[in-house]
Amino acid sequence: MPELPEVETIKTDLEKIILGKKIKVAEIKAAKIIKEPSAEEFAGKIKEEIIKKIIRRGKYLIFEFLSGKYLVIHLKMTGQLIYGDKNKQSKISFLLGNGQYLNFCDWRLFGEIRLIDDLEKFKGISKLGIEPLDIKFTIRMFYEMIKKKRSKIKSLLMDQSFIAGIGNIYAQESLFKAKIHPAKIALNLSKNESDKLFFSIKEVLTEAIKYRGSSINTYLDLEGRKGSMGERLRIYGRKGKPCFRCKSIVVGMKIAGRGTAFCPNCQK
Ligand SMILES: [Zn+2]
Repeated sequence: MPELPEVETIKTDLEKIILGKKIKVAEIKAAKIIKEPSAEEFAGKIKEEIIKKIIRRGKYLIFEFLSGKYLVIHLKMTGQLIYGDKNKQSKISFLLGNGQYLNFCDWRLFGEIRLIDDLEKFKGISKLGIEPLDIKFTIRMFYEMIKKKRSKIKSLLMDQSFIAGIGNIYAQESLFKAKIHPAKIALNLSKNESDKLFFSIKEVLTEAIKYRGSSINTYLDLEGRKGSMGERLRIYGRKGKPCFRCKSIVVGMKIAGRGTAFCPNCQK
């Protein structure tokens, strides 16, 4: 699933291309993806909307229109936004004022699109925790946050109401970088471990944005290109292989139902 760096990459690319553009029409092939309002109402309401601003919040991509309405997109497992000609795989195709299309492709149909009047009334957004790359997210705040929590640190990092935008890949990478065992109970982290994890999260996410995200499954950017962060991952998907740091064999365990790789020697 695309996480913060992948969605941020799409957002930055979209800003260069579609700010100020008008949506002429939305062609809907898979009504299931439109969660709010009904697909017919959606198609009627989105006509002639002009894109004023693009926002990323957690893993959500948000188009703010001149009218004050918002188009809220969540790519979920296999969603892709591809700009250019009309794409045959597209489930929802937005024809723009310049004759180009913004195609929402999604073969598993788990993606979600909403057209809403008030962002704060949508719980998916209003319940999100702090943005990990926001300047307001501080080292002291992080320690205050985790020392109240009895859950496993990896589950906590993936909890969108705790911190927004981190998923299975970057939670594992951050914990490896900070040398912390993914099943360690959050409130048992020392101040030193908490500080290391804080910096690891920021560094891992910043590096992943720099390399335009990881194309582990189906993630592609706006022009259909893969990100190159996948080659730079240090622990994700490396179960059974030697640790990059100490050469011990990387092991795996399930945490909150998700496969998790870690080095039993480096991560305590
Ligand atoms: Zn190791």
